Amino acid sequence: MSLTDAPTLPLGGPTLPQERRLVTAIPGPRSQALLARKAQAVSAGVGHTVPIEAVAAGGGVVVDADGNSLIDLGSGIAVTTVGNAHPKVVEAVQAQVAQFTHTCFMVSPYESYVAVAEALNRLTPGDHEKRTALFNSGAEAVENAVKIARKHTGRPAVVAFDHAYHGRTNLTMALTAKAMPYKSGFGPFAGEVYRAPLSYPFRDGLDGPAAARRAISVIEKQVGAAGLAAVIIEPIQGEGGFIVPADGFLPELVRWCRENGVVFIADEVQTGFARTGAMFASELFGIVPDLVTTAKGLAGGMPLAAVTGRSEIMDASHLGGLGGTYGGNPVACAAALAAIDVFENEGLIPRARAVGDILVSRLTALQQQDARIGDVRGRGAMVAVEFVLPDTGEPDAALAAAVAKACIADGVIVLTCGTYGNVIRFLPPLAIPDELLSEGLEVVARALATS
Ligand SMILES: *Cc1c(COP(=O)(O)O)cnc(C)c1O
Repeated sequence: MSLTDAPTLPLGGPTLPQERRLVTAIPGPRSQALLARKAQAVSAGVGHTVPIEAVAAGGGVVVDADGNSLIDLGSGIAVTTVGNAHPKVVEAVQAQVAQFTHTCFMVSPYESYVAVAEALNRLTPGDHEKRTALFNSGAEAVENAVKIARKHTGRPAVVAFDHAYHGRTNLTMALTAKAMPYKSGFGPFAGEVYRAPLSYPFRDGLDGPAAARRAISVIEKQVGAAGLAAVIIEPIQGEGGFIVPADGFLPELVRWCRENGVVFIADEVQTGFARTGAMFASELFGIVPDLVTTAKGLAGGMPLAAVTGRSEIMDASHLGGLGGTYGGNPVACAAALAAIDVFENEGLIPRARAVGDILVSRLTALQQQDARIGDVRGRGAMVAVEFVLPDTGEPDAALAAAVAKACIADGVIVLTCGTYGNVIRFLPPLAIPDELLSEGLEVVARALATS
């Protein structure tokens, strides 16, 4: 391609017109050309959900190289909660990148890392004394939370749950439940990882205390508290299907952990930072975790992750035991401080609830007309529909895939999830205008009607 026929790129950020606009089929010719290069250059293991070449994004839309503007109901997997290219994030990143890009915090510390730690210590649940360590990705945060819990307790074992997703590194693959696509052929996996049954009200029909008793019984019989360092759980499961546990399940698990000296880790990588209508989903269930892992929404699209928790646990590591070359990179920290300012001062928690109300009212109306929607669930702006075969209640993954595909072809980005692949999840940026969200949901309704 010569320079002269390159399109003028639209600028991202909130000035980008907040509209759905299709000027070619998806993918258009420029996007197709990029995907052809991708196939020749990028590992076949790295997939993509939306077959476009993204060139700009802002607020609630993603614009492709062919000039199509897609409504974003996925936020790059729950990352751009503050809106894509939020002006405060952009300004903070630009200022920091011109100042210095890296010193390595373990070599020459800088203020923004400490300020992010202070903010996380203040914002995460519980008013106990806390400490934080910063990393690059959710998986790395989870790995470090487990390291910290092991060092603190002197015990080896870790319990994760059915339908769990904690990442793709070796230890986090072991913690993740689903074989395809996350684990198949990638073992052997890290040892001393055990799995307990979840509370999944739509499928198990158990109340919270009963589901907790079932899980605790498995843990006591098959693992034993004496060798157990930590229990790790997503307060609302993400990849596993936006599964909201029944009331009482999480508090009972926390109580059992306290009683047995087991570290309770809440993996809030997907649920954190206003997404669920609370700063952290743990608050919705009235629990105070010992350690909290965060990442996705934390830094407005820049890679940053954290482990935050009780000082006596976080300080158990010997000096130099925690860290990493890039962990708490200054540009990512500047972005996080700007995003945290937005979360706290631009009303994002009530905004998540308002977005959730729009999602739930439209989706439950759809459910009333269509028996293939078995369940509508979630909290705040983290909402999903589970598709079933109406006669049996069996998961209908083919329908979820067909609806998602039709949405994307019609200019709306949606993501699927779930152990059975039969869930479509909605994670819009909170900057999305109401009309655009409603238009996106009408596209979903049309896609369902024709699938
Ligand atoms: C995405 C996710 C992870 C992994 O985060 P990465 O940044 O992709 O490594 C871990 N836990 C949960 C709950 C997640 O949703």
